[in-house]
Parts: sequence; structure tokens; C-alpha cells
Amino acid sequence: MNMENNLKPCPLCNSTENLMVYAEWLPDKKPNGHEVGVVECTNQSCPMIIRAITVEEAVRKWNKRPREDFLTEQNKALAEQLVIDEIIENDLRAKLADAINALEHYANYDFSEKPDAWAGTVAIETLAKIKAESVTR
Ligand SMILES: [Zn+2]
Repeated sequence: MNMENNLKPCPLCNSTENLMVYAEWLPDKKPNGHEVGVVECTNQSCPMIIRAITVEEAVRKWNKRPREDFLTEQNKALAEQLVIDEIIENDLRAKLADAINALEHYANYDFSEKPDAWAGTVAIETLAKIKAESVTR
């Protein structure tokens, strides 16, 4: 931002140092000509110049950046979504860790003397599946 005139950087060369704001008298059209507002980038080889009815209007047009504003808003929304995704992912990881711990506890339990010893085998197989899935993600 150019502090003197509250100008955004040049949209072509991104300069903030070579911007001029002035009123210009054009001798065309009306009998005695008419004044226009101008914002110009005087950076060498940069052709950026905006003319408008008034200086204020020229500054307003210079600072109007619909694509930039849209992308800034979009970036903000994406950053917020990323935070939400991380929260959900961390929550899922915590739940998965709890499930793995529970299954490990179940798998290591000695079922050999009980009639439902097969449950231990099922738990071990399930645990292996969950561990395999959590590694691939
Ligand atoms: Zn420029």
C-alpha cells in the first residue's frame, strides 16, 4: 500500500515507489477542454496508467482488484477448511488409536480356557486390518 495516496501496488509491475496521482487537463471535447484524474506508474517500461473523471475515481479504479479480492477470499476459505480438516483428521487418529488400544487389549487377553477363544482370533485379524489401513493413509 502506497501510504501517501492509499494506493495498492501497480497491478502490472507491483511497484509501490513509482506511482503518481495527479489531475490532467485534456484540451479535447468540451470547448475549453476538461480535467481528468490520473494514476500512473512511472516505473520505466511499465505502461500502467488509469484515467477517470476525478482523481478520487482514478484512485478507486486503480485499487479495484476483483480477481485479487476473489482469490484472497478463496485462500482464506481454503485455509479455514484446512484447519477444519486437520481437526477432523486428528480426531479420527485419536479414535483409531483408541480402537487399536482396545483391540490390542482384547487380542492379548487369554481366551484359551474359555469356550469363546475364537473371539481372540477375530480381534487379532481385525486389529491387523485396522493397522494396515492406518499405515496406508
Ligand atoms: Zn507498474
